[in-house]
Amino acid sequence: MLTQAPKGTKDVIPSESYKWHFIEDIVREKTALCGYKEVRTPVFEHTELFLRSVGDTTDVVQKEMYTFQDKGDRSITLKPEGTAGAVRAFIEHGLFNEALPLKMYYLTPVFRYERPQNGRLREHHQFGVEAFGGSEPTLDAEIIMLGLDVLNSCGLKALELNINSIGCPACRKSYNDALVAYFEDKKADLCELCLDRLGRNPMRILDCKVPSCGEIGKNAPVILDYICDDCKAHFQGLQSALTAAGNAFQINPRIVRGLDYYTKTVFEIIAQQKDGQNITVCGGGRYDKLVEQIGGKPTCGAGFGMGLERILMLLEERGIDIPDKQQMEVFIVVGASAAEHEAGLVLATKMRASGIAAECEHNQRSFKAQFKYADKLGVKYCVIIGERELSCGKYQLKNMQDGTQQELSADEILQQIKE
Ligand SMILES: [Zn+2]
Ligand SMILES: [Zn+2]
Repeated sequence: MLTQAPKGTKDVIPSESYKWHFIEDIVREKTALCGYKEVRTPVFEHTELFLRSVGDTTDVVQKEMYTFQDKGDRSITLKPEGTAGAVRAFIEHGLFNEALPLKMYYLTPVFRYERPQNGRLREHHQFGVEAFGGSEPTLDAEIIMLGLDVLNSCGLKALELNINSIGCPACRKSYNDALVAYFEDKKADLCELCLDRLGRNPMRILDCKVPSCGEIGKNAPVILDYICDDCKAHFQGLQSALTAAGNAFQINPRIVRGLDYYTKTVFEIIAQQKDGQNITVCGGGRYDKLVEQIGGKPTCGAGFGMGLERILMLLEERGIDIPDKQQMEVFIVVGASAAEHEAGLVLATKMRASGIAAECEHNQRSFKAQFKYADKLGVKYCVIIGERELSCGKYQLKNMQDGTQQELSADEILQQIKE
């Protein structure tokens, strides 16, 4: 147990972290181009924040949260998603007083107590964006395109964009009535949680993960038939903006997203897995009432989240190569004495100061063993410092690709490598 990470968690070991950097670099580049700046919020928040935002009838809150009492007897929850904390920070720091729309992105671990199946971890990592104070559907379209751009730039093509509108509180009422009427005579087949949801928030039955609930939900009325004129116009506007910017999409009236805060736009970017199954790699939407709901000045907003592990899984499945930019260039082979080791360290330091990635020997290995190690590192050059080299002040520079060797001073070696 001591040497095993908790169930549902995964280490990123040093030889794999370049894959994460690859995605994170793309995230930082693409978000900056759209005006997003990074926000970092705590890993845990007051539980109440998630009850109010994500919603107390959602699967996330009812089944999946890591909640505990801290020593001050406060109820604390490890964040199950990224939006609530960002909204809390937006309010707490008075960011509504800044120029709007205010755009922020995050890279964060999120925690959900789930059965660890393919791609579902208890701690996973999300990239997400939030844009506060922009009401027009062009913002929704811009956000969606940012999501697509990041995924495409990672190498994921053939993605499908599904969009829907889930209306506003004004039109939600008549839709909820329709849902209640539909589910009324099917109560016997609903799970216990959904029976409760029927009275409090019937839309949440539609994303219940219990198979029997999912089956009944398939034929339920869809919200698109109930949305008000304002929501309709906004949804039309989104489609028009997406088309104007050259994006293909599908309207999928079954998307509701498993979080309560969405209004109007919801969307999912779908990828096909090797086994033919569809998987959502990015999901988001608009949340015009959320800031107000948490206690801030009414401010509309929209955003998305995407799971980094899923992106990595798909890249691997599709055999897409991720470049490892971190490459050792030089290894300095030294003789057994302290003086030779120190000369190695001094030369390595000099190289690093001029931007060359260099390693020197820190053991008492034979020359042969050191060259073997250099091969493992995949370096382009080795420098050899033995007793003779030390006394004459010139070292051997060996080109590992063609095997040629030259006797040069430290400065000449630096010159040569930099060329
Ligand atoms: Zn509406
Ligand atoms: Zn259910």
